[in-house]
Amino acid sequence: MSDTDTKEIERMNQLFAAQKAAFETDRHRAYEDRLRDIDAIASLNAKHKDAIKDAAAADFGVRSRCETQLSEISYMRTAAEHTRRQLWSWMQKKKVSIPGNLKPGKAYIRREPIGVVGIISPWNYPYQLAFSPILAALAAGCRVMLKPSEYTPNMSELMKSMLAEEFDEDHVAVVLGGPDVGQAFTTIAFDHLLYTGSTQVGRLVAKAAAENLTPVTLELGGKSPVIVADDFPSEKAGETLAFGKFMNAGQTCIAPDYVLAPEGRSRTIADSIIARVQKAYPDWATDEDYTAIVSDKHYERLNGLIEEARAGGAEILQAEGGDPGNARKIAPTVVLNPPEDSGLMQEEIFGPVLPIVEHNGLEDAMKRVNARDRPLALYVYSKNKKTARSVIEGTISGGTVINNTMLHYAVEDLPFGGVGASGYGAYHGEAGFETFTHARAVFEAPVWHPSRLIQPPYGKIFDAVANK
Ligand code: NAD
Repeated sequence: MSDTDTKEIERMNQLFAAQKAAFETDRHRAYEDRLRDIDAIASLNAKHKDAIKDAAAADFGVRSRCETQLSEISYMRTAAEHTRRQLWSWMQKKKVSIPGNLKPGKAYIRREPIGVVGIISPWNYPYQLAFSPILAALAAGCRVMLKPSEYTPNMSELMKSMLAEEFDEDHVAVVLGGPDVGQAFTTIAFDHLLYTGSTQVGRLVAKAAAENLTPVTLELGGKSPVIVADDFPSEKAGETLAFGKFMNAGQTCIAPDYVLAPEGRSRTIADSIIARVQKAYPDWATDEDYTAIVSDKHYERLNGLIEEARAGGAEILQAEGGDPGNARKIAPTVVLNPPEDSGLMQEEIFGPVLPIVEHNGLEDAMKRVNARDRPLALYVYSKNKKTARSVIEGTISGGTVINNTMLHYAVEDLPFGGVGASGYGAYHGEAGFETFTHARAVFEAPVWHPSRLIQPPYGKIFDAVANK
């Protein structure tokens, strides 16, 4: 381990002790203080929007400034507004009914801050996937430590300095480093840990957290399928699939990962996707709105997947473009019928490559989806709502959009999370508030309560009330 990492881990442990101590003096953070915290996040978001775009561009080489605005900055503005508007109602205690033999009395649930929260975030939407859980934790009245990704160092440094403008480190702190620091981070006895990243590392995180009985939310990835029904026109499917797949060059956890097209239609769907892409980016190689791949390692892996499919006999369609020079850009790519055992059909792609295979009916499509790990998202295209809903009935996924992709992510009132290998737990909106609060069960009994009658020595009253 490097000296820098060793020092950062030491600092991390001190920060945790300081946050823990601070939490003990402010266990039930007041509504007004939480509003201030939410407003602080919203004002940092507005004030630093250009710096956020610059940092993302520096980290990716080329990162569409419009997409940084849309998916990171505008997303956070809306999330903060929603949280501000809803916080009062989320914080209200919820009365519950009590059984007749426990009356009189009052029972209710209090949502209480869980304590000090750890957040580990990935590189693909490096700002939003860190700030959104921080917002939820602050709304819940918690203290937060963030460990962002080592692949986006500019954004990580920026987030650290932004947060320091508004928050003391015993409230919100950022710890920098790679897997060694990440691994040490997971050994801290946080009151909750939220991890966003790969399924493989997610398993390690859950294991490490189990040592401390730290509850974990795992926001993982996987292969999110698209099922196109017979009745849905290829051109219409192509339009939204192209956006869902090539935004951020496919480096999106809920990007469509592969398409199950009706028999004989893979070609027309592929053509319509490529036609749409060509309109969106007349020259993807030089277009500033077509994002590059985050690192050489990821770039080589993606090219390897394309070449493997080509060698396996699949047809590769790519949008036309010039020379991207040194930018790590990969042409928007559609792969027709890659072999089932190829990397493209076995691993999460996480890049601008979309395989299309054919199904011979919805039953077959659903069977193929159900034979795999449960996906983070599933998209179904049909003109007939009943047909689309029958696909929801016949499958399991973290979230679903009918006739489009990714839009569920932007609805703050929908919980966002996976199921099975795509993760567990959720956040966004009230789901995030619930994740970072403890549901404390309270029963208020009057000074004299009839339950006193059901005590030893058991006799007639016990027989009348309890011995039924
Ligand atoms: P990753 O797992 O490599 O890294 C994520 C974070 O984990 C980084 O901060 C990294 O430093 C840290 N880390 C690495 N090794 C660690 C260890 N042993 N212990 C603790 N922390 C460690 O993931 P990635 O490549 O950055 O992200 C890509 C994956 O994330 C894809 O699978 C994608 O689908 C998924 N993802 C999911 C969501 C979601 O919301 N569900 C969002 C974005 C990305």
